[in-house]
Amino acid sequence: MFQRSGFVTNLYLLTCPSMDYLWTPWRYAYVSNTEKSAGCVFCEAVKEQEDAKAKIVYRGEKCFVILNAYPYTPGHVMIVPYQHLDELRKLPAEAAGEMMALSQRMESVLRELYHPDGINLGMNIGKAAGAGIAGHIHMHVLPRWVADANFVSVVGETRVLPETLEVTWEKMREKMAG
Ligand SMILES: [Zn+2]
Repeated sequence: MFQRSGFVTNLYLLTCPSMDYLWTPWRYAYVSNTEKSAGCVFCEAVKEQEDAKAKIVYRGEKCFVILNAYPYTPGHVMIVPYQHLDELRKLPAEAAGEMMALSQRMESVLRELYHPDGINLGMNIGKAAGAGIAGHIHMHVLPRWVADANFVSVVGETRVLPETLEVTWEKMREKMAG
């Protein structure tokens, strides 16, 4: 049964026009919806007093960690510097260092919470590279499973997720505090 559904999914993917969504999911995170909002969503999120509302799971010295509002898989987070910068090379070394340290930490958190088979870590710099929010650099970190195409529907780019953002936020917040 599992074998069969996997086979069908794979067949579909071979012919699916958005096939690369599966291999480079971070390229499709934060699509048109957020582009319409005025200002920068990351800069706006930082100003929000309630972390639960902003879906911020951690505030560091130079960077913060926020849930992706349109997750590819449950646990899809982004590590974002407070500074509004459009190129990685402009990021001061200290902030870049914290971004990598937080990437390692989020890898641990995702492994402990979701027991994935793998982790995607990715950054898109510039619109041509697929950045949804091109003005403010951010690092995507998301858990992956060998057969995640079986529970993540890519039809019409609508993802069906097994948990809500609120649940993800609470689990992650607890992990980051502990
Ligand atoms: Zn910004």
